Amino acid sequence: MKIYLDHAATTYVKPQVLSAMMPYFTEHYGNPGGVHSYSRTAKAALDDARAKVAAVIGAQSDEIYFTAGGSESDNLCIRGIAKANAERKGKHIITTNIEHHAVLHTCEALEKEGYEVTYLSVDGMGKVTAEQVRDAIRPDTVLVTIMFANNEIGTIEPIREIGAVCKEKGVFFHTDAVQAFGSVPIDVKEMNIDALSISGHKLYGPKGIGAMYVRRGLRMAQVLTGGAQERNRRPGTENIPGIVGLGEAAKLAHETMEQNAKQLTELRNYLIDGVLSRIPFSRLNGSREDRLPNNASFCFEFVEGEGLLLMLDLKGIAAASGSACTSGSLDPSHVLLAIGLPHEIAHGSLRLTLGTDTTREDIDYVLETLPPIVERLRMMSPLYNVRKDV
Ligand SMILES: *Cc1c(COP(=O)(O)O)cnc(C)c1O
Repeated sequence: MKIYLDHAATTYVKPQVLSAMMPYFTEHYGNPGGVHSYSRTAKAALDDARAKVAAVIGAQSDEIYFTAGGSESDNLCIRGIAKANAERKGKHIITTNIEHHAVLHTCEALEKEGYEVTYLSVDGMGKVTAEQVRDAIRPDTVLVTIMFANNEIGTIEPIREIGAVCKEKGVFFHTDAVQAFGSVPIDVKEMNIDALSISGHKLYGPKGIGAMYVRRGLRMAQVLTGGAQERNRRPGTENIPGIVGLGEAAKLAHETMEQNAKQLTELRNYLIDGVLSRIPFSRLNGSREDRLPNNASFCFEFVEGEGLLLMLDLKGIAAASGSACTSGSLDPSHVLLAIGLPHEIAHGSLRLTLGTDTTREDIDYVLETLPPIVERLRMMSPLYNVRKDV
């Protein structure tokens, strides 16, 4: 038995995506910057992929820029918008304390360059409110950057409401939509989103490719310098196979979004209810309602997350604890601490993220396998034995 339940960390490349990419490695390898037929073929593929990505979020093709991934998009958007508009607007940025490190560490780096950053606290479900954003906006606020959905606990933020506040106040709004893109409906115009980050490998596309949406007319400083590719916003010869893959993955995700969301939500709820009813001293992290369809995040008291992952792996179940980026460190995830969990409980976290191929049999196997593992780990915990005896 081998079950992959770590789709929030990365996904495999769907066969349809891979076969769309293949000719661009070997046959259509032209540089889109040239004038001959090889270049024209590559350029056509680039334009086609741009249109496919744009369609998912209600953007225009010329508002999509390809990058080398979600982290790079976050960097280019946040640094680019802050730097181009600081003189006119000011050097104050608003974000939350549950962002991905690509956003958090970028904000911290900007603080060293003289920017001031407000880190809004989330509630117990992992949510910020538009009112919090409104209260934090100052005359010198240049940018609000708040993630669409959290990668660890799956909570979806009130992006439409936050966008409305930013528009009303004349502040630019960027959202890291890496987990949400292709998974939940997004309309950048209706939601008043000025800039948005996308990554290929979270939606059955290849790794090392991403995109950013930047609203037409928005001023952005050049962060990387070089050639004029991607209209001066991301220099370097375009990764055409990767871009074609992202375009195909985006199209596929868009076409199947509704059906996938329904199927994943049902399976996920079955998993959540099964875990909470079978395992005592367990809790669900994040919002029940405003939640990514494929995310189930738990904490088990008196359990060490790392041990849990190793034992699940021995049984063929690939899962995560905290975030992939922080595993290996002993600090519990900043997201779990931000929703108010004490260190000892945050340490016992387990994130199971489903994929479009996950079956009910897979979940049944998890529901069979997980409770005895948790029980075994708890038997080794002196605290649990004290608690049980009470
Ligand atoms: C994975 C992820 C990123 C980083 O994307 P990469 O393509 O791996 O650089 C950024 N933000 C969120 C929310 C993510 O889940």
